Amino acid sequence: MSIQKTPEQNTIFFVWFNQYAGILLKTPTKTLAIDPVDIKPKSLQNTDAILITHEHYDHLDPRLITEIQKATDCTIIADAASTKKLHHTIPTDKLQEIKPTQEIKIGEVSVKAEKCQHNAQAPVTYIITSEDQVKIYHTADSLPFPELAALGQREKFDVVFCTVGIAPGTNPQTGFEIARLTKPQVAVPYHTASSTSQTEFASLLKKELPRTACLIPELNKIYQVSKRK
Ligand SMILES: [Zn+2]
Repeated sequence: MSIQKTPEQNTIFFVWFNQYAGILLKTPTKTLAIDPVDIKPKSLQNTDAILITHEHYDHLDPRLITEIQKATDCTIIADAASTKKLHHTIPTDKLQEIKPTQEIKIGEVSVKAEKCQHNAQAPVTYIITSEDQVKIYHTADSLPFPELAALGQREKFDVVFCTVGIAPGTNPQTGFEIARLTKPQVAVPYHTASSTSQTEFASLLKKELPRTACLIPELNKIYQVSKRK
């Protein structure tokens, strides 16, 4: 499932690889995996960094992370609770704890943590800015929260991933609300095993936010997004 091709300038590739928030992201210079679970370690061979949003089983698999880290020597960026579960097996210089508003650079790619409205110990969401300023917002399992509007205005997101199910309290409407607040170029409904939830999200978007495109991803397929002109 690794992405062989390299995106052109001002472009990123992404793959949604499980029914949760598992996203593989490739920029012109770096490959990042977010919340990998339910995946073979070999499929993440060329990963430069792994980002973890919170400690729940559908986002953090310590054994898998440890195996990938050993094989690739990649950097792990994680919320405080996940960091605690990883620090016995990941070398200290490869494990970086992150809290909302903190930023960590992976080469020229920026990873910034923000608040996450989800019932976990110290969950975060991630703003990833590619070396040529393509802006991706991975909102983990978050429910909508008011500060998203200001984040959207400040960042002008190209892609926002919106949870539409499985996590407590989430549904197509809460996912849509995240899109409505952040107003990205492209909104992607994920964290669901139900295509009905995704199409419900799409119709809400079409009706209420016609300037945001909806991209309903298929699992393990490569998608391309270019920077908003
Ligand atoms: Zn989840």
